[in-house]
Amino acid sequence: MTWRADILTLFPAMFPGPLGDSLAGKALAEDKWSLKVTDIRDFGLGRHRSVDDTPFGGGAGMVLRPDVLDAAIGAVADERPLIFLTPRGTPLTQSRVRALADGPGAVLVCGRFEGFDQRVIEARGGEEISIGDYVLSGGELPALVLLDAVIRLLPGVMGHAESGVEESFSEALLEYPHYTRPALWEGHAVPEVLTSGNHAAIAAWRLEQSRQITQSRRPDLYHQYIASGAHAP
Ligand code: SAH
Repeated sequence: MTWRADILTLFPAMFPGPLGDSLAGKALAEDKWSLKVTDIRDFGLGRHRSVDDTPFGGGAGMVLRPDVLDAAIGAVADERPLIFLTPRGTPLTQSRVRALADGPGAVLVCGRFEGFDQRVIEARGGEEISIGDYVLSGGELPALVLLDAVIRLLPGVMGHAESGVEESFSEALLEYPHYTRPALWEGHAVPEVLTSGNHAAIAAWRLEQSRQITQSRRPDLYHQYIASGAHAP
């Protein structure tokens, strides 16, 4: 079954953009996912197809009108999750990505200017998702980021089904370091255990590396991992 993405944006030419290449592009050509882009401006008001207005209460910038957005959303919404990309949203995680990939698709609404009138998010029961604690100029790149993360998990998109399982975040830990040929490069040898052929020892070494890296770089993730009991034998 095709995973269906709908994008609502003021800049339709930004899609599929980088998702037309490589893994995602091949999967798009093979109908493993589909993309429909709707120009919010088509639902704009008046001769100028106006989509925004000044904020009540004052302040800089413009806000996307709820009536215009609601009409655009109404044209595509169905049972799929409705997601508004906002810096104030719930931070995107690999587990949310996995859940989205397991579903029928998503409708992604890209903001511009100061963002959306809050009433349309609430009236439509939308979910707000952020891709990180920084502010971009629009929701298009966040939508592409979210889609990229989902598409690589869809059945048949990645070469090895496994490679989605043993990765950073999938098991609550960051990934162990990788090495490839040459075994000795500019005087730096690869860790000896990796060339030992002892699969149990390799697995144990990798797990220990994952633990150490997570503990030192992301104590927040490490605490979650310990609290989940996943580290217990
Ligand atoms: N005034 C807003 C920022 C608006 S940025 C605030 O301070 O919260 C314009 C649009 O870019 C937003 O509506 C949103 O769709 C998108 N955007 C910017 N940064 C984002 C982020 N980190 N995650 C998701 N969307 C983001």
